[in-house]
This record gives sequence, C-alpha cells and structure tokens, in this order.
Amino acid sequence: MSNRTIVPHIWCGDCNKRGFSSRSLARKALGRVRAKRNRLADKHGTRRGVVRENRAYICPGGLWHLTGMSRRLVRR
Ligand SMILES: [Zn+2]
Repeated sequence: MSNRTIVPHIWCGDCNKRGFSSRSLARKALGRVRAKRNRLADKHGTRRGVVRENRAYICPGGLWHLTGMSRRLVRR
C-alpha cells in the first residue's frame, strides 16, 4: 500500500483545477482519490457526507477532470 506513483496532471486554467491529458490517466487518478477517501472515511467511522469523485469528464479545454457531482450540479 505504498505506491507513490504520481499521476501526471496538467493545470487547467479554464476550470481552475487539475486536468489530465487522457481518459486513462483520469481513471488512474480517480482510483487513487477513491482509495484516499476510503481511508479518510474509515478514520471517521462513516462514509456519509464524504464527497467522492466518481466520474471523469472532458472539459471544453480538452482536458479530463474528476467530479463527484451529479450532472446537473456541474458548473461551467
Ligand atoms: Zn478544464
């Protein structure tokens, strides 16, 4: 459980957040974020109220981002 491989990301100025150059990279990052969130949730003893990124989407700038929001809440 000590995989420190860093998923390379690109800063997306359009969205003001991390972006990934390909879907496979975004999915890889998603897996890592999930593992981290799960550890946090275990520490708190509950998973309620823990926001989890569960989707990758491509933004108008052509970069992939992660979101845990349902589609109607995604702002542009
Ligand atoms: Zn973007």
